[in-house]
Amino acid sequence: MSDHAIQRSLELDKFLRREQASFIGGRFVPVGQQNRVPVYDPATDERLGDLLEADAAEVDTAARTAREAFEDGRWSGLTVEQRQNALMKIHDAVIAGQSELSEIESASTGIPLAQMKGFYIPRAAYNFKFFAEFIGQVGGDLYTQEPGYVTSVFREPVGVAGLLGPWNAPVTLCSMKIAASIAFGNTCVVKPSEIAAAGMQRFMEIVSSTGLPPGVVNLVNGRGPVTGTALVEHPDINVVSFTGGTATGRAILSSAAKGLKACTMELGGKSASIICADADLERALDAALLGIYGGNGQQCLAGSRILVERSIADNFIAAFVARVKNLKIGHPSVMGSEMGPLASKAHMERVLSYAEVARADGAEILTGGKRVESMGKGYYIEPTVVRAPSNAARVCQEEIFGPFATFVTFDTFEEALAIANDSTFGLVAYVWTSSLDKANQAMRKLRTGTVWVNTPVVRDLRSAFGGYRESGIGREGGKGCMTLYTEEKTTMVAIDKMPIRRLGVSA
Ligand code: NAD
Repeated sequence: MSDHAIQRSLELDKFLRREQASFIGGRFVPVGQQNRVPVYDPATDERLGDLLEADAAEVDTAARTAREAFEDGRWSGLTVEQRQNALMKIHDAVIAGQSELSEIESASTGIPLAQMKGFYIPRAAYNFKFFAEFIGQVGGDLYTQEPGYVTSVFREPVGVAGLLGPWNAPVTLCSMKIAASIAFGNTCVVKPSEIAAAGMQRFMEIVSSTGLPPGVVNLVNGRGPVTGTALVEHPDINVVSFTGGTATGRAILSSAAKGLKACTMELGGKSASIICADADLERALDAALLGIYGGNGQQCLAGSRILVERSIADNFIAAFVARVKNLKIGHPSVMGSEMGPLASKAHMERVLSYAEVARADGAEILTGGKRVESMGKGYYIEPTVVRAPSNAARVCQEEIFGPFATFVTFDTFEEALAIANDSTFGLVAYVWTSSLDKANQAMRKLRTGTVWVNTPVVRDLRSAFGGYRESGIGREGGKGCMTLYTEEKTTMVAIDKMPIRRLGVSA
C-alpha cells in the first residue's frame, strides 16, 4: 500500500466522514436545510463529507443560547473555585482523549501525528490548566490615596465572546480562546475555520462530557463571510477574539466597529530569523529548519525570512538545503513523517504560485517549488528554499504560510535589524548570536511582539503574545486575555464624612 492512501481505523474513518454540525446548548444541531460545504482529506483529495454551514438564523440561536447561559448565572454565578474545577475537568478529559483527538486533528489538518501528539493537543489541554490556575491568583486594585475614600477596581466578565480561529491549528488555537473567555466567567460561541473543523467536533464532545453547563461553550460551523460575519455582527456578542489572516482581520474589525466591540486580532507574519556568524550554528540550523517546516510551514510565527551573515551564508545555506532534501515527507499518520500535506488544495496552489513569484523577482530556487507527484492527489509540496536578491522581493514581504524559506544575507548587525524591521508585519523575531550586546540590541530594536534569542519557538502563556503593525492588535496570554475578557469596574466608598458642597441653602 502506498502511504498516501494509508488505511485508518474504521472508527476514525467514520468520524472524519460524519457531517460536521454546529454545537449549541449542549448538543449537535440536527441535519436540516443547511448549506453543505465539502470537506476533503488533505492527504488524498478525497471528499470525505460535508460541513453543515450555520446561517444567520443558526448563529442567532447560538448567540442567544450563550447569552441566556451568561445571564442566568449558571456559569458566571459560580465561585472561582467551581470554575477552576470545571476547567481542570476539561484539561483532564482532553488528556484522556488526546490520542484519538490527535488522530482526528492530524487527519483533518495534514499536520504530522507526532507533532499533534507531542505539542498541539497537549497544549490544548494545558490552556485550561493555565487559566484555571491564573484566575486563582489575579486580584483587583485598591487605592487609598484619595483622602476619605477607598477606591476598589475589580473585574467582571464582559458577557458573550465570539471566537474565530484559523485552520492551521484549530483545536490548539480555539481552545486557548475558549479557556480564556470562560475562565473569567463569560460564555462563548466559537467558529473554527471551515477548512479543518473535524477536530473541534470531537473537542466539543469532550468538553460537554465533563458536565460543563450546556450553553457555556457553543460552536458554529461555516465560511467566514456567512457564519463568521453573522457571529461578529450579532448584538449578543460583546467581545471578539480573532486569529487568522490580516485581510480578514481588517474585515472583522470593521464589522465589530459597528457594535463598538472590543477585539483582539492575532494576524499574519513574515518573521525574520537572524543568524549571526558568532552563533552556535548547529543549534541555529536545527531551529531555523523547525521554524519554517514545523506544522508544515503553516505557522503564524514561522521564521520564513532567514537572514544570514554574509561570511557564513554559503556554508549555512548549503547545510540547510542538505537537511531540507532529507526531510521525510509522508502521510500525516505515519509516525516518521516530518511534513504532511498542506491543509487545502487552494492553499497548496497559492503556496506553489510563489515559486514563480520568486523567479520573477530574480530569486534563486535552491530546492523545492513543486508538488510531490509521488504522493498522488494529496496536497503535498516539496519543502522549498529560495535565495532572494534583497528583502524587497515579494517572497520576503508577503506571507506565504507554507514550507517556503527565503534567505537574505547581511553584512552588519545593524543592517540585519533594519532588514528584519522592513516589513508590514511585526509578529515575532528569532536571533542567534553569542554576543550579549547584539542580543540586547535585538531585544530593544526589533519591532515585533516577541523576540526569541537563541531558541526556537517556546510559549510561556504568562507572557503576552501578539503582533506589532499588521500582525495584530491586542495580546493573548494571561494578562492580555484578562484585559479582553473582563470589564473593569470602579467602586468608591466614603470612609469619612467628607464635606459635600450644599446647593439651595442660601437665604
Ligand atoms: P483566514 O483569515 O482566512 O480565516 C480565519 C477565520 O476567519 C476562519 O474561521 C474564517 O472562516 C473566518 N473568516 C474569514 N472571513 C471572515 C469574515 N469576513 N468575517 C468573519 N470571519 C471570517 O485565515 P486562515 O487562512 O484560516 O489562517 C491563516 C492565517 O492565520 C495566516 O495569515 C496566519 O498567519 C494567521 N494566524 C495567526 C496567528 C497568530 O497568533 N498571530 C496564529 C495562527 C494563524
